This record gives sequence, structure tokens and C-alpha cells, in this order.
Amino acid sequence: MPQSVSRLCWEGNMREIITLACTDCKRRNYTTTRNKRSGGERLEIKKYCRFERKHTVHREVK
Ligand SMILES: [Zn+2]
Repeated sequence: MPQSVSRLCWEGNMREIITLACTDCKRRNYTTTRNKRSGGERLEIKKYCRFERKHTVHREVK
């Protein structure tokens, strides 16, 4: 098994997968992981939106 896959499995035990959606066009462009213990605030990151071809703020969605 490739090393990267086994590491993902291990992180799955303690990290939560979250989806990031563009606040402009509402499309869900990214998924990322977050440590569950540091939860609370909603994540907001400026990322490239491939649909609009520009950088926009992406926010965590459920
Ligand atoms: Zn967008």
C-alpha cells in the first residue's frame, strides 16, 4: 500500500473532512481536513475558483 494512502487512513481517525464553497458562486470547489479539537469557528480561506477564474473567499459548508 502506498505510504500516502496509509497516512490518510490514520488521519481519518482524528481529522474531520470539511467542504469549502465559493462565497461568490456557491460552488463547492475544495475539500480539506481539520483537526476536530480545534473546531468551533467556520473556516474561511481565499482560494482560486476555477469556475470564475479568480480568487474568492471560500467558506466551510456542511
Ligand atoms: Zn466561485
